[in-house]
Amino acid sequence: MQYNSNPCVINKRSDMIKFLNLFEINKCYQDELQNALADVAKSGWYLQGKAVKSFEQAFSQFIGTNHCVSCGCGLDALYLIYRAYIELGIMQQGDEVLVPANTFIATILALVQNGLKPILIEPRADTLEIDDSQIINALSSRARSILIVHLYGRCAYTERIGEICRTYGLKLVEDNAQAHGCCYNNRKTGAIGDAAAHSFYPSKNLGALGDGGAITTNDEQLAETVRALANYGATSKYFFRYQGRNSRLDELQAAVLRVKLLHLDSDNQRRQQIAAFYYERLHNPLVQLPRRMPDAQNVYHIFPVFSPYRDALQQYLASKGIETAIHYPIPPHKQACFSQWNALSLPITERIHQEELSLPISPTLSSEEALKVVEAINHFKPQHV
Ligand SMILES: *Cc1c(COP(=O)(O)O)cnc(C)c1O
Repeated sequence: MQYNSNPCVINKRSDMIKFLNLFEINKCYQDELQNALADVAKSGWYLQGKAVKSFEQAFSQFIGTNHCVSCGCGLDALYLIYRAYIELGIMQQGDEVLVPANTFIATILALVQNGLKPILIEPRADTLEIDDSQIINALSSRARSILIVHLYGRCAYTERIGEICRTYGLKLVEDNAQAHGCCYNNRKTGAIGDAAAHSFYPSKNLGALGDGGAITTNDEQLAETVRALANYGATSKYFFRYQGRNSRLDELQAAVLRVKLLHLDSDNQRRQQIAAFYYERLHNPLVQLPRRMPDAQNVYHIFPVFSPYRDALQQYLASKGIETAIHYPIPPHKQACFSQWNALSLPITERIHQEELSLPISPTLSSEEALKVVEAINHFKPQHV
């Protein structure tokens, strides 16, 4: 199978295949972005203005929720959701939140920084997402929420998770930092649970030219509380109900995101085409691919492969001019900042972190480049180890 290369990427200069080339990605929308940025610069209004409002409206419509509240970054979005549940008396310090052990550290930090206790659940080895069969055994009377992470752009939601949340009265929160545009049965991730956190870090599928984040929800009270908490805790100007923080998406980033949102679906389709190409062509017994999901349920923020010879594979690919990345080298429970969990044994999570290698899959990767990646990996042999 061939796929059409992104038409806006022509005349690549080097033979090196970069893992991610943000310059190329954003160059595709250069004129639109420059106009949007110039409009903000000329407006004389840089925070909490028209661009933010317009992006929040467009994004809530895209995700399919009644509310979108923008904020400074993805970690803040996660933090503010749980802070709001605490301020509303729905959760208390010491309550438990079930969360996948295999995630980016921000997911866990948002809980710990709210005085909530993360209960780390192993992922499934084939899907890499939270193992819903482990959840019931991990539920205590202090459990208040399940925080699912659509890691690598794959939908982590299952009907069983929804059922457990309904049965036990748990808030279902989504970490959608890596899965903008992903679907589950015609619903977008970010509209499945009670609330969702989004990051617009530059490398994310919907990425700003700096930091940005948002919360989406249908819960009006939650949305209002998050909005206040992100604005020093103010419910109206100079009236502070909560001890809040300052976490804002600025007008420049909102204007950028408004432009890039228009192209998100086509960027995601390109990622899905590259992934289909990889699934079809990669054949090397030393390199395993994750179980394939229906296309709608994966927007391939990352294309992870697994090998017991991961480090050798990475070096070998580098020697062929192919840059790769590791997501992530050390799981949260083995990090120095979480010494209380360092002795925990979570073998599936630990194996993922030892064997994972992320292949280039950005929307600007050409079909020639994808073919080069495939051929190099298929020629990787034990003598390279
Ligand atoms: C990027 C990311 C975050 C944090 O987002 P920031 O905008 O960098 O704060 C949270 N969770 C996951 C899964 C992420 O990938």
